[in-house]
Amino acid sequence: MLRRLSLALAVCLALSNAALARQTTAESYRKAYQTLEAGLNALGGAGALRAAEDVWVKANGSTWARNQSLKVEAPWDQMPRDETLYADRRGRFIFENRDPLPGGFVFGGRNVVSGGQGFFVNERDRTTQPLVAANLPAVTLNYVRRLPHLLVALALEQRAPTLRYAGRENFDGRPHDVVIFAAANGVLMNLFFDAKTHLLSKYENMVTDPVDGDVVQETVFNGYRAADGIMVPTGRQTRRGGDLIEDVKYTEVRFNTRPADTAFARPDGFEELPAFTPPPIKETKLGEGVYLFESGANSLVVEFDTYVVVVEPYGGGRGPKPTINKAREMFPGKPVKYVVVTHHHDDHSGGLRSYVAEGVAVVTTPANQKYFERMAASTFTMFPDDQTRAPRKPVFELVRGRKRVFTDGKQTLEVIDIGPSPHAAEMLVAYLPKERLVFQGDLVNLPFSGKYMPTTVNDTTLHFYDWVTKSGLDVQRIAAVHGPATTLEDLRAAVEKKRAGR
Ligand SMILES: [Zn+2]
Repeated sequence: MLRRLSLALAVCLALSNAALARQTTAESYRKAYQTLEAGLNALGGAGALRAAEDVWVKANGSTWARNQSLKVEAPWDQMPRDETLYADRRGRFIFENRDPLPGGFVFGGRNVVSGGQGFFVNERDRTTQPLVAANLPAVTLNYVRRLPHLLVALALEQRAPTLRYAGRENFDGRPHDVVIFAAANGVLMNLFFDAKTHLLSKYENMVTDPVDGDVVQETVFNGYRAADGIMVPTGRQTRRGGDLIEDVKYTEVRFNTRPADTAFARPDGFEELPAFTPPPIKETKLGEGVYLFESGANSLVVEFDTYVVVVEPYGGGRGPKPTINKAREMFPGKPVKYVVVTHHHDDHSGGLRSYVAEGVAVVTTPANQKYFERMAASTFTMFPDDQTRAPRKPVFELVRGRKRVFTDGKQTLEVIDIGPSPHAAEMLVAYLPKERLVFQGDLVNLPFSGKYMPTTVNDTTLHFYDWVTKSGLDVQRIAAVHGPATTLEDLRAAVEKKRAGR
């Protein structure tokens, strides 16, 4: 049986080698170029596209808060999505979006890119902020990919040396020619052209997902209609790891709108914030044996007599491995024994695999166990971590009865379940009675300036404030996974202002 299997495998390998051998690099490039040219012609041809100086598209529909919903498992919370995009042949873009998330969070605003630089406008907080120049290739690719004629033109005109033909594949029951190109930010895009109509049916690329590891993200254009001689999609659907995360209709598409130059100017009377720079990596002492490990996102590190507890295995910021290593260096001979996850959202739990690989016990609420087991067992080959190299099964310390207290007689850390919060059905906070301090994730997110803005206090923050005031806990300071710490007094003032509608 085994021999027959290996024989079959050998035959398969020989066949695929033969198939590959039939196409040289030059042939692959030539075929890819021709496929793209046919794709551009199907969209209206170079003439019609040259005549279109600019394009303006309005889209709306839904997004799904995958791994960012109230509940830990699908179905994900469905949120409305609105966006408009302007793009022109001079490389200028205006992209405006509104993206709510559960618990009163609203992301989005207006991004303006012109002359090789850009800025972000937040109408609700009345602020503007320059875009980081190094991010512009990724930012503009994110706009271009919304319209096939822009995406195909970009591949042909700016990324041609990277074009390769990847063969024929069936998609949606029809044969497709697949072309690969490398975007300026290094992402390899696979473009699927219908072999008969030559229209772009979808594009996809590999992404690394905090929960599911190596997955495909694909965007499908389900239909086309003609506008000013150019074929434009009727909408798009995006799936990540097979989950639908976006479904929007293109309700209006217009060409040659020729906006006035003022459309690309900063609005008057808005506060100008500095360009985002990653906050420095540092350890701030909050009390005896209590440290905030700061960076783009923060973790709380608490020292006990024989071990250390980390609160929040955040995926970004300084990263989980450097957090573990720094704790080891600061507290020699005391292993990190527990890692507390405030809530399941994939940014907050995104570094968990590194802790699992070290045998650190995961402190979480019961509903999250399966989700974290899946995360620990996922395949991460694009960005391998310790769990890829030597996988372990996670060990859990489930918080039941709303509280888990860690103490050695001198140091005390209370892990309290405050859920259901408007942001996540199960939500833990860390309370340090001696320091009169609460450490929390996503419940109070101050901007890096440390200043409360009109949007800082949302439904989630109001719920948290009410919980603190009713908890009977002696709280003076509130530290955060995101952004600087605040005092309960400052939070109270901001909440009262919000509730008074000021
Ligand atoms: Zn969250």
